[in-house]
Amino acid sequence: MADETMPAYRIPSIHSSAQWSRVPVPKPSSGEVLIRMAAAGLCHTDLEIMDKGAQFVPHKDRPYTLGHENVGYVAALGPGVTDAVVGEAVAVNSGMTCGTCEYCLAGQDNYCENPPGFYGLSDDGGLAPYLLARRRDLVSIGDLDPIQAAPLADAGGTAYGAVNAVLPYIRPNGFVVVIGIGGLGSFALQLLRLNTSATVIAVDLADKLSHASGRGAHHTVTSDASAAATIKELTGGHGVDAIIDFVGIDATLRLATDVVRPTGCINLVGTGGGTLPFRFQNPPLGVHVVATASYSMRELQDLVRLAQRGLFTIDVTTYAFQDLEQAYRDLRDGRIVGRAVVTFDGDRPGW
Ligand SMILES: [Zn+2]
Ligand SMILES: [Zn+2]
Repeated sequence: MADETMPAYRIPSIHSSAQWSRVPVPKPSSGEVLIRMAAAGLCHTDLEIMDKGAQFVPHKDRPYTLGHENVGYVAALGPGVTDAVVGEAVAVNSGMTCGTCEYCLAGQDNYCENPPGFYGLSDDGGLAPYLLARRRDLVSIGDLDPIQAAPLADAGGTAYGAVNAVLPYIRPNGFVVVIGIGGLGSFALQLLRLNTSATVIAVDLADKLSHASGRGAHHTVTSDASAAATIKELTGGHGVDAIIDFVGIDATLRLATDVVRPTGCINLVGTGGGTLPFRFQNPPLGVHVVATASYSMRELQDLVRLAQRGLFTIDVTTYAFQDLEQAYRDLRDGRIVGRAVVTFDGDRPGW
């Protein structure tokens, strides 16, 4: 593939929408691996980037290819890479990590102090037939279907990280509330069922709640004015051990404060921009408030293993790579069930 070019869906500059471009097929340098893409999940964050630029990662003033939920096959090894095998199926950690800061050393690499970059968020991602990645950012997926694996590299991983953060606060036979049953929330419901004995309560608009029951919620509560009272009643008046808020607006944070038990935990994951009032006894005494993002490499590895055993359901709607603009339109219009995943069929569409 010497000096070949390929189509890529790219952000040409900050504050400009994504567009198709042609770029050279990259060549792996030392420590890098060339990946032939198999599947890439699309994310609301991509739409935010197209609308107003990346908000959560340091911006680099240069064009880059979108796509931060990436799975593919190792196609070529750069110098010095001896522990990856050509043809092996891998998921790519969306955030690059330095490996040497105290967070990386503690296995909390999603809070890396010196992240070199982010695939598809500030550096080239997977919305192109080939992706260049560092060997250290890859997790083997074995025989897991790449289409199923792609959403684990962001949506699934972020939900898993959010669940792991609240586990210490959940008593045996306790109660957990998940607010927002979209792509992340439906992972969280299932992972809570897998990892706890808690009663799991899903909160969302009425039309999302039948899906929540199918993904493990014991109870579903419509997010209206009576939600707090309904949840309190389900807990016998004691309140819930933990709330994971995947929405993050004023109303959902108020609900979390109203239903959390003393010494419980509120985890804010949603980027809705709401605020949580904080004064004495509100939230109740002893409550831990945290906001988590993304996942550690180890969590991605664990999640892949759980998925290989078929222990949870990964909902996807697939599109061919060349139809990804339609997929983004459907995502924007709320027409996607589960995660939108673009697939690369290997017949070089549009080359
Ligand atoms: Zn994302
Ligand atoms: Zn680090």
